[in-house]
Amino acid sequence: MSTASGLPVVRTVRELRLLVAAWRRDDLGVGLVPTMGALHAGHTTLIGAAAAAGDRVVTSVFVNPTQFAPGEDFKTYPRDEAADLAKIAAAGGHAVFAPEVGEMYPEGFATAIAVGGPAEGLETDFRPHFFRGVATVVAKLLIACLPDRAWFGEKDYQQLLVVRRMVADLAIPTEIVGHATIREPDGLAMSSRNAYLSPEERAVAPRLHQVLASAAEGIRAQLTPAEVLLAGNRALDEAGFKVDYLELRNARTLAPVADVGSEPLRLLVAARLGKTRLIDNLAV
Ligand code: AMP
Repeated sequence: MSTASGLPVVRTVRELRLLVAAWRRDDLGVGLVPTMGALHAGHTTLIGAAAAAGDRVVTSVFVNPTQFAPGEDFKTYPRDEAADLAKIAAAGGHAVFAPEVGEMYPEGFATAIAVGGPAEGLETDFRPHFFRGVATVVAKLLIACLPDRAWFGEKDYQQLLVVRRMVADLAIPTEIVGHATIREPDGLAMSSRNAYLSPEERAVAPRLHQVLASAAEGIRAQLTPAEVLLAGNRALDEAGFKVDYLELRNARTLAPVADVGSEPLRLLVAARLGKTRLIDNLAV
């Protein structure tokens, strides 16, 4: 265990379990905030909220190779451990789990978790490998740490529901806590991938949230989903986005919406701006 930034940093599941066992002996609650590093205020808000809940908070920092397809940005994904450790310490985190790939996926690793239900459609239509990788690594992190609570951002709304489904189905004894999306002052959802945007793209990027906000208003004003989504698609096209999907779904199940007015609703979008793929979502 090293202690850069005054924070214990453990790199193996065995060390993580020893750390958590010591807290348990002191009757302390444990929270987990899984991340891929390149931390921003979205992540540090989750860490702060987890600490404010009264738990000892482990932040995991692991760029998970199994959720990237060949040709995606696994190799170039931003990594800066020293900066991450300083941010975790400042946010009130208590320890960091930063394993090597070989610790999470030892030689011969041959297991994966496949989630249906909320994992079907949306992201899966464009990144079919994605939730299998996410579910597998999150299950491994939860089993390694066995936290009382684990914190996930609504920024990745489909992921949050996939994790909730998996934890319920596998009876993992952890409460999954969702946290509202943290945004830049201009509305852009914070994301490690925003660093890829050119200044011109960065100026256009907040349109994504604006389009969601006006679509939500349109639905609340009784416009039909079809006309609202058509207008949203047009607005994104005109702004220079290539839209993967813009959809209105049941907020609890992500099933397509049968009857506006009787279900909780969520708008979800994924769109590419140049080489950068952005996602966002909004409650209606
Ligand atoms: P990532 O490092 O992108 O895998 O994200 C780690 C966790 O932080 C996930 O639960 C994300 O949903 C959450 N997160 C990322 N960006 C934000 C944001 N802007 N607001 C709230 N949570 C976020």
